[in-house]
Amino acid sequence: MKCEDEMKVLVVETKLWIVDKNVDNIQSYPQIIEAAHLLAKNEVVAFPTETVYGLGANARSEEAVKKVFEAKGRPNDNPLIVHIASQSQLEEIVMDIPPIAKQLMDAFWPGPLTLILKQKPGTLAAAVTAGLDTVAVRMPDHAVARQLIEASGLPIAAPSANTSGKPSPTLAKHVQDDLYGRIAGIVDGGPTGVGVESTVLDCTEDIPIILRPGGVTKEQLETIIGPVKEDRAFVKKDEAPKAPGMKYTHYAPKAPLILVKGENAFIQQLINERRAEGMKVGLLAASEHQALYEADYIVAPGSLAELSTVASGLYDALRQFDDVHVDIIYSEVFPEAGIGQAIMNRLCKAAGQQMIEQ
Ligand code: AMP
Ligand code: MG
Repeated sequence: MKCEDEMKVLVVETKLWIVDKNVDNIQSYPQIIEAAHLLAKNEVVAFPTETVYGLGANARSEEAVKKVFEAKGRPNDNPLIVHIASQSQLEEIVMDIPPIAKQLMDAFWPGPLTLILKQKPGTLAAAVTAGLDTVAVRMPDHAVARQLIEASGLPIAAPSANTSGKPSPTLAKHVQDDLYGRIAGIVDGGPTGVGVESTVLDCTEDIPIILRPGGVTKEQLETIIGPVKEDRAFVKKDEAPKAPGMKYTHYAPKAPLILVKGENAFIQQLINERRAEGMKVGLLAASEHQALYEADYIVAPGSLAELSTVASGLYDALRQFDDVHVDIIYSEVFPEAGIGQAIMNRLCKAAGQQMIEQ
């Protein structure tokens, strides 16, 4: 029957492995080894990193990388970050590592910093870099991720393990919600830590340029290498971004999200107006302000006193609004210093740049 045949093409068996990220000798875990075998067989497997869950594939295999783009519905002009676990893996795939990049690796690897470097030709599937002569590389700071990469013996191309356009996954449940039946397996290592993706830094120019703000802040980078530039496209919204992926709508919940810069009473007034029109209204607020509001569904991902808590809870907060089917979501804005720059970058994208100012 035609219909069933079509289903078979789309639906694959998705294995689930639960692992403990705090145990050192993870490599002994049969689950990690089984997941690594699937990667070596050019299947795609989701795994936790310290930023968000990644959807991993053998970066040398066109077949494996194609599966990543298909499972996510990702546009194929949007290149993938290659995840490595050792210096020797780095040297296999890049050339001309500038001294500044070496300093940054010493300071922030393993960690949430992705460096754009010159690619060694012919070492990766062309689809990984979308035909560019550069490659984005990162060494994740997560025992499960690193053991999985080591056990596979491969450089692992891994974008976030969500359906393209949706908020990135910070729990294995988020990956299941988006990709169950579309990928070979999910390694569940519990909640990720940082909660927003890595900082993407282009190191191919004399002065490095931040293409995407993320887990390592501009201030942290500058303490190591002095001034860095920012891609104007994420600062000023009307210019074309240098990271191909930054031009796409991202991180968006199903209901329209509108950022509001104003006092609590002003935000409450907006909520009241929408509710009077019969809408179910969601609100994303700092935990300090949560009790000040009345709405149909309020999520407080974290505290203004510690913005890293907002980052780690942000995507789960956005996904919760989908579960409760609100009609519209208002969000407070957050200070843009430190990790706040990545938080506001993701919120602005999730809102399609819609902002109301009092
Ligand atoms: P994701 O895989 O969803 O975390 O996104 C990775 C980000 O890095 C996207 O915005 C990509 O466009 C960007 N990126 C990956 N490789 C390159 C590259 N070689 N040059 C510029 N940007 C890149
Ligand atoms: Mg992504």
